[in-house]
Amino acid sequence: MTTVLPEWLDPRPWLDLTRNTDPAPVRQALQADHPDIRELALFLSPAADTCLEAMAQRARAITRRRFGRTIQLYAPLYVSNHCPGGCAYCGFAADRKQVRRVLDDAELHHELDALKALGLEDVLLLTGERCAECGVDTLAHAVEAAARRLHSISVETFAMTQPEYCSLVDAGAVGVTLYQETYDPVRYAEMHRWGPKQDYLNRLEAPGRALDAGIRTCGFGALLGLGDPCFDTLAMVRHIRYLMRIHWKADYSLSFPRLRPESGGFQPAHPVNDRLLVRIILACRLCLPDVTLTLSTRESAAFRNAMAGIGINRMSVASRTTVGGYDARSPATGGQFDIHDTRDVTAFCSELRTLGLEPVFKNWDRAFQAITATP
Ligand code: SF4
Repeated sequence: MTTVLPEWLDPRPWLDLTRNTDPAPVRQALQADHPDIRELALFLSPAADTCLEAMAQRARAITRRRFGRTIQLYAPLYVSNHCPGGCAYCGFAADRKQVRRVLDDAELHHELDALKALGLEDVLLLTGERCAECGVDTLAHAVEAAARRLHSISVETFAMTQPEYCSLVDAGAVGVTLYQETYDPVRYAEMHRWGPKQDYLNRLEAPGRALDAGIRTCGFGALLGLGDPCFDTLAMVRHIRYLMRIHWKADYSLSFPRLRPESGGFQPAHPVNDRLLVRIILACRLCLPDVTLTLSTRESAAFRNAMAGIGINRMSVASRTTVGGYDARSPATGGQFDIHDTRDVTAFCSELRTLGLEPVFKNWDRAFQAITATP
């Protein structure tokens, strides 16, 4: 049975506008003081290509006003790649041939020390779907260990209950990232072949539960290439705006992960080229001026350099998508997907500075948690 989209999420009334080929309504949309969902659809349309320079200038001005010249840096750290899940696009799916591991205590400490030695203070801990080898307790333990060493700990893992999110907050987590992957329920059902992730609404509602539990920052994303990217972008922005009205004290971030090669050889049904990705990023910045926009090492160094500060204000660096990828003593597994930008921290920061931008390693201290937690 296909999930029925909630009214507050459904992007279909605006989908025709994303196919607009007339530049005039796009130019008009650029005059709006507070662009809404209608303007977002026009910024995503092919006609927006004729206004790309104007969109980029406005996006850069908004980004500079809200975030200055800063680029927040973070790194992902895979705690486990055990996964009973059946996501058709993922190198860690249960039917992929992979060495499976969960970091033991010593390995976890080595990985965290290796990140600390690189100067990184903001870490995103990742696991596969909930399983006997790695569940909430293992993750909470990893959060605790990370919070003892680093300043900002977020998790990207399976959808949880509110009490489970509370246990992560107690352990020191400040952020939860949970991509809906695709907001198109038909495509979602095709892509999630088995496992708990098949429950579309449970995943959709998980960020609200995390914020109810006291998580400060929620990260959103659609895996670009799975479904119609305009459908997914419209729904994603509606999702964030819906939660912003309820959890107005929280921070929000948005990522633009394009599908990358993985061990199963999955091919995107809706490939997103560079030009469309630029439109998506600029459109999101114009319509979500206060939201952190993130671009990971899935993208090339050239593309990341081009978008840094022009909408994008947060980037991963020196990333590994393997379990045990940072410390030379740990035997690393295969990766969840291939990364594209392989620059190290020094080279990356030096290029950011050349672009007139300021890399920021620490943007959050846990001492703030008590005074900013949402009720
Ligand atoms: S995306 Fe997550 S849940 Fe799905 S197969 Fe990969 S690791 Fe498992």
